[in-house]
Amino acid sequence: MTKQRVIFCDFDGTITENDNIVAIIRHFNPPGWEAIVNAIVSQAKSIKQGVGELFRLLPSSMKREVVEYAISNARIRAGFADLLKYCKDNGIDFYVTSGGIDFFVYPLLAPFGIPEDRIYCNGSDFSGASIEITWPHLCGPDCATECGMCKKTIINRFPADRYERILIGDSVTDFEGAKLVDTVFARSHLTQKCAELGLPCHEYETFHDVIDQLKLQEATR
Ligand SMILES: [Mg+2]
Ligand SMILES: [Zn+2]
Repeated sequence: MTKQRVIFCDFDGTITENDNIVAIIRHFNPPGWEAIVNAIVSQAKSIKQGVGELFRLLPSSMKREVVEYAISNARIRAGFADLLKYCKDNGIDFYVTSGGIDFFVYPLLAPFGIPEDRIYCNGSDFSGASIEITWPHLCGPDCATECGMCKKTIINRFPADRYERILIGDSVTDFEGAKLVDTVFARSHLTQKCAELGLPCHEYETFHDVIDQLKLQEATR
């Protein structure tokens, strides 16, 4: 029997051209953010720890500016709507697995009609003095990485004997998931990481590159 294909697609730096978390923090420039970002990327600090610390540098009173900046600054990578259509036409399930935050992920994805239960991301709480990130999708027992939003845990709900698993990503939130799946589409830090780990990956710049490769794979199924 042919396996059901399922795509797990990152958001920041993948669906959007840039990393929104880094863009927000760089724009508002609170003292100390650079060291935290570097520690996350070098994996000296867990993603959960680091992202939590970054947003705690911003007061909740800045909610409106932060949300407006995030949404107006982001650019969707070329070919995204075409990839969604390709998936629909070819029976590929499409999930967004994002280490990003609800207040920009949901509004930016709203035009594309992806069901909300297929979008995984972190939450936010503006009720305290500073912005607090909430974590509705923590690592399960199989993951000790402190991902915050754990892609590995979500991917493991789609067993390899029934699903052909495809990951599209760009950076540190994708490293664990990339080790599990059948096909990795990579750019930026994720490309380097795959090379280090000896994992094959397909490099992409736009989602049209991803569609072209999926069509090649389709032909040999
Ligand atoms: Mg990313
Ligand atoms: Zn995890």
